[in-house]
Parts: sequence; C-alpha cells; structure tokens
Amino acid sequence: MVLGTGGTIAGAATAGAGHLDYRAGSVAVGQLLAGLPALQDTTLVAEQVAQVDSKDMGPALWQALAARVAHWLAQPDVRGLVVTHGTDTLEETAWFLQRVLAPQRPVVLTCAMRPATALSPDGPQNLADALAVAAADGAQGVLAVCAGRVHAAADVAKVHPYRLDPFSSGDAGPVALVEDGRVRLLRPWPVGAPTPGLAQRVSQVQAGAWPRVEIVLSHAGADGRLVGELAAQGVRGLVVAGTGNGSVHEALEAALLEAVAAGLPVLRASRCLEGRVLPHGGDRLPAHPLSPVKARIDLQLQALVAS
Ligand code: ASP
Repeated sequence: MVLGTGGTIAGAATAGAGHLDYRAGSVAVGQLLAGLPALQDTTLVAEQVAQVDSKDMGPALWQALAARVAHWLAQPDVRGLVVTHGTDTLEETAWFLQRVLAPQRPVVLTCAMRPATALSPDGPQNLADALAVAAADGAQGVLAVCAGRVHAAADVAKVHPYRLDPFSSGDAGPVALVEDGRVRLLRPWPVGAPTPGLAQRVSQVQAGAWPRVEIVLSHAGADGRLVGELAAQGVRGLVVAGTGNGSVHEALEAALLEAVAAGLPVLRASRCLEGRVLPHGGDRLPAHPLSPVKARIDLQLQALVAS
C-alpha cells in the first residue's frame, strides 16, 4: 500500500531552468509507482491522500493521513505501508503517526530531494528502498527512508537544505540500511505502544479545533514579551527551544515560569541538532528529550486529550 501526500518526490519542473524551479506535489503517486520495476509476490495499491508541499503540512492533513494509515493497517493482508512525503516536515509527520498509531507493522515515509522530472531523480530509488523496508521481516513502527538509510520517527531530523541525504538520526544513528534492495538491520526496530483512546480522539477533532501550541526560541538577547503575547492569544501550550542542555535566557525563563504559574503547560527542549536534554533535579521547566518540533506535537496531543 502506498499513500501519496506530495513533496518533491512528486515534483514536476516548471518554466525556469534551475533545479529549484519545480512544483512539489504535482505527479500522482500511482505514476511514481508505475516507473518502478514490478515486485514479485507483492500487490501494490496506490492512494492519493493529498498533494502538498510539506512545508504546508498541518494537523488536518495529519488527521486524514492517520485515518487512512489506520484503515489500511486494519486490513490483515497489508504487510506494511509506504507514504510519499516532502522532506521539509517529514520528521513531524513521522512522529505524529508514531505517537498516534504506534504501528506494529512498518509505516515507511519516503521522499526525494530532486523532483520526479529532474535529470537524475532520487525519488525512484528511495521509493524502491521504502518498499523493501515495508516488506522486511520484523519491520515495525514509523520509519523514514532516504538515500539508503532507515531512520526511526523519534530520531530523524532534516539537517541539510539541499544534499541528497538531508536526514540524520543524530547520536542514535539509522535503524537500518538498504543495500541493493536488501535491508541490513543495525539496531532493533522501534517499538511503541499506542496510547489508549488517542487515535480515536484525534479522529474526532473538528476542523480548526486543534489546540494551538507554539515554539519560542531562547537566544542571546531573548526576552519574555512574546510569551505574554502568546498567552494572551490563548495558546494551549508552549515549547521553548533552549540553548545547549535546554537552558533558557533568564528573561525568557521568568516569563515562561509566570505562564506556568497561570496554568499554561511549557516543555523545554534543545535547539541543538544532536543529543537530548538531560533532566536535572532542580529543573523549573520540564525537559523533553526530542526536538522542539516533536515536543510541540506531544504537547498538542496532550492538550487534545485534556480538552
Ligand atoms: N518543499 C518540499 C517538501 O517538503 C521539499 C522536499 O520534498 O524535499 O514538500
């Protein structure tokens, strides 16, 4: 089963002559599959869930995608799923699906850095590799496949705007490699248990009713004014992307502590690309081990369950 959501993998050239002159999400997922050699013993079914540039991804589309993924995973003859996706927010969609569905079968997101109409597109190989992972014995959880590397949803992050392998799993490293169509496992497949009732709660959210959770950045010269303004606008939670081990500028921290005292949930992640925040006994703001964008998803789901 292959679900299409758009991205550069489905991108087609526009009038300009440069590599960046293309429109993401133009080529149908069925057409992307048609370009691959037939697979033995595998029936592929394509479904177009969306056609977006993933920079425009949002909770309504996540909700629709989660529903389709859950639908297909409920079919006993579906061994695994592949989802074509833009690279820009792939790590967020991966984490959302992992948190909401924690699938016991593989849900493999794949992508491309060059559009389908490029001289030498990388999408077809990534798609073939993703299909190999979706069919691999024992594979499970939400995974990302790009440039021959397989990443877990919790670890993967886009760390480069241009190169063909823009993803890193930081200290954890990739879960597996795909070499000439074969999957070489480097560490155990990610495991996770679904939070009872969460998928159902997600499926019930009305359009426009997703809790608003924002990220604020700690940086030299940061102050707390933004926090006050966001709180006044009725945000349901804040993530602070702290420096280093989640440290926060004293002025920003004061404003965040004030917001917490007024009942606003705040999580503290690190703006560092690698590693994770180590919690300490005296922490005044709770630490989150993943990146700020993934912490934001957790806080949004938490606010949803609480509403
Ligand atoms: N902007 C594109 C997207 O995320 C980039 C890509 O797919 O590489 O949809």
